[in-house]
Amino acid sequence: MPHADLHVVRSGTPKPTLKLDVRLRSVTDPVAQKVYDLESVLDPAKYQVDFTVFAPHNEPPHRFDGVPKIAADGTVDVAQAALGVYLFQVGVQKKQPVGTSQVGSVVGRIQVHERFVDWWFGNGSITTALDSRFAHAQPSLYAKFSDDGSGADLVGDITGHGYVTLVSNSASVAVADRGRLQGLVETAAPVTVTGTFLEQPPLSKPPLVLPVRVVDYGKSRPVLEPVRVPDVAHADAKANIVFLAEGFRQADRPLFDRLVQQTADEMFTKPRHEPYGMLKNSFNVFKVFTPSQDEQATCGFHVTDNTVGFGVKGVPIPSAPAYPKALKGSYRLRQLVELVGLPKRGENRNTQQLKALWARQQIPGFDPRQADDALIEAWKAHRSDGVLQASDTMFGLYLGSRWADGSRVPTTTTLAAPVPGKDDPTDPIERPKLAALITRLHHFYMMRPQQALTLDPRRHPPELYANENLVNPGNSILSYLGGLRYSLPPNPPIGTNWVPDSSTVKQSKGLVSIISYDGVNGGSAINLDTLTSSTVANSAPVPFTSDAARPELLRRTTPAPPSPARPLGVVDLDSFINKAAHEFGHVFDLEDEYEEFGLSDDSDDALGARDIPTDNITSIGFLRSSPAPARTLAVDRVKWLVLPRIRVSSRLVEATLPDTARPRQITVTVGPDEIAKWVQARADGAEVSLLNRSAQPNRQQLPLPPTNQLDYLTGLRIVEVRDEARGIFVLEGPSTVTIQQSFREGSVVFVPRRNPGGSPSFVVEEEVVAFLRSTRLPLNSNRVLTVPSRDDQLPVPIFNFRPPFHSFLTVGLYEGARHVSRGFYRPTGACKMRNQDDQVHDGRQFCHVCKWLLVNLVDGGQHALLDRQFYPSSPRGRR
Ligand SMILES: [Zn+2]
Ligand SMILES: [Zn+2]
Repeated sequence: MPHADLHVVRSGTPKPTLKLDVRLRSVTDPVAQKVYDLESVLDPAKYQVDFTVFAPHNEPPHRFDGVPKIAADGTVDVAQAALGVYLFQVGVQKKQPVGTSQVGSVVGRIQVHERFVDWWFGNGSITTALDSRFAHAQPSLYAKFSDDGSGADLVGDITGHGYVTLVSNSASVAVADRGRLQGLVETAAPVTVTGTFLEQPPLSKPPLVLPVRVVDYGKSRPVLEPVRVPDVAHADAKANIVFLAEGFRQADRPLFDRLVQQTADEMFTKPRHEPYGMLKNSFNVFKVFTPSQDEQATCGFHVTDNTVGFGVKGVPIPSAPAYPKALKGSYRLRQLVELVGLPKRGENRNTQQLKALWARQQIPGFDPRQADDALIEAWKAHRSDGVLQASDTMFGLYLGSRWADGSRVPTTTTLAAPVPGKDDPTDPIERPKLAALITRLHHFYMMRPQQALTLDPRRHPPELYANENLVNPGNSILSYLGGLRYSLPPNPPIGTNWVPDSSTVKQSKGLVSIISYDGVNGGSAINLDTLTSSTVANSAPVPFTSDAARPELLRRTTPAPPSPARPLGVVDLDSFINKAAHEFGHVFDLEDEYEEFGLSDDSDDALGARDIPTDNITSIGFLRSSPAPARTLAVDRVKWLVLPRIRVSSRLVEATLPDTARPRQITVTVGPDEIAKWVQARADGAEVSLLNRSAQPNRQQLPLPPTNQLDYLTGLRIVEVRDEARGIFVLEGPSTVTIQQSFREGSVVFVPRRNPGGSPSFVVEEEVVAFLRSTRLPLNSNRVLTVPSRDDQLPVPIFNFRPPFHSFLTVGLYEGARHVSRGFYRPTGACKMRNQDDQVHDGRQFCHVCKWLLVNLVDGGQHALLDRQFYPSSPRGRR
């Protein structure tokens, strides 16, 4: 575990054998519990485990013939197996007093080769953590196999297989299970481990030596430097941002410093990054530089080593964008790989032969009309006989994922497919079972997004890191943050602001940007939005070099250093800032609004009856107004429909208590700089609203609380300006209202905007709401929702409504979000949370709903300014 991409050989002396281990990782409280439990399920007393192996490339009825056997203890037996590529499923059930209960399932790939030819370390050096309990870093081990003509790969990843024995040459490092390295003493200079292949001879090769460094991540470091720090004395009350260097060598430090300074300057001044600019006084910005041994991030996915199809090497496998030469309506290469798998090595059948094979195999979901000749030719060459070396970086981030690291289909909630009795797709009983099994096995090919930049499971142990959607509170990066102190005396421990704590909401939670010095596009919110990451540019192919003598060993080309023509080298400043601003959006409970994958059915998590907990996304399961398959929507459930437009606003600078003596009144403090506008509002007789600050640990704000109950009061009047010097005034509610709630510091008091007819004005205009209510459909003008779109979505023409100049800014309801084109809905046609790198419109801004939510969280006093400057109104003023 977690390796599910396996290589076995049939001959050798001694013959290398492979034994699988399947473990269940569990966690009771993902914030408080710093360590995950790992329990082996290969215990027949407690679990029933079923292994099913399938030969996906064979002709029916031979797809269960000659497959490797996997024994109940996990031992893989290939004595009778044919050479080639197999997929397998592991179904896990827990034994109960009566019967069993489903736990989940894992899928993987086994390639059977005749023998090993070579092996090497996939790292030039590796950094591991000082930890008395767990071994962290796991060196990658790669192998070359005999060229068997079976369709299996020539090179592969044999990490964790047990074929190589590692021995430490130092008391600073110990070798633990599955070749992970435990740091025992922090090192000043690298120490070494030696790797010996178990089969010697015939694979006669001297042992290999790997340099290892041990870092004490948790120690106290007074290295936090100011970048833009308006207020360090009250840092605990500010939103503190810190930039960390990842994959920068010591010599790259000036580049890091310049990038951070320009980012901090532009993010808080340029209109396209608003509302950060209007919120600048609420933020402190710091940086820390710690050098890495290697530049760039480790690349999890494989890349092409030939120029067929794309004209360049280094294209990520499987390629996500539309294939340039394919006809309109054709699959993307990634979609084709997910349907039919990766090509066999040496595949030379033509398009017709392959399509005929896939028809006989009855590949579920495959539509031959969507696979044209050019696409299939590119698919045949969409592979590599080499593998990229890992990078040795400070924090151990990696791009995308390895096949071995699991796919985007979860293991614990996806049950094993039923196992057919025989491979006969013409049999009406077996056909649906075969289809279900093939569908489940092909989840192996459903790679996680390649632009994800998350913690590499080969640097972070399974006991401390599960996936980016959990806090993983014990991981090294959070330990590192906890030890950071300000660089200037008295060195206050500001780093604790970034350490998640389930007992309190910290203003700085998640405002950690790990900058990876890598030109390939990447960026993520990690550890349940407690960290963010971004690469410094957005190029797509991964440039690499290899020696003529060792074509299988691929090294990434180092980034071009700064030059007079390109003063920031490979750094694309605009792209970096756009990504950083986008990733911070995740920290504020905003989710991706973009689409990368098409779906013909709604995904399970779109079908839930409860709304999505992030504020800018909702789902079909929650909105549906008639039983499935109808897609008509109860649009009044859309949570951003009632976000008020705001004319005058201030933030409460102190908490305020209900007044028991005068239960209709509440006294609020906005500070002396803000009081003038409330004196004016009183003179105008304005109606005032008061909205409490959200106390959700995840910063969730929607749905807004119900009006005129506890946390959201409307229709208040200013009855007294009590103290202009301190900025205090008194509000009174209508006679029917008793104010029983206290309002937190950071709550917002505001005068709502009104429509010409006097009704309150919301961010979704009333004509748009009326249109949505009558159509009960999203506004997308492009109705082909099974195909993902990365473009701005224009709304359909809306009755009686003139859209803003950029009509995609119209706030309403659009289908397509959370990476998929169907089942999830977002507020507008375009947003920084959807496509942060828009060149046409000078970099994508946040949509108005995302802007509103950000302002409300950080400084609701800026609402009126936001509305005045940025509400996407119709040209020439419809009103
Ligand atoms: Zn994102
Ligand atoms: Zn948005």
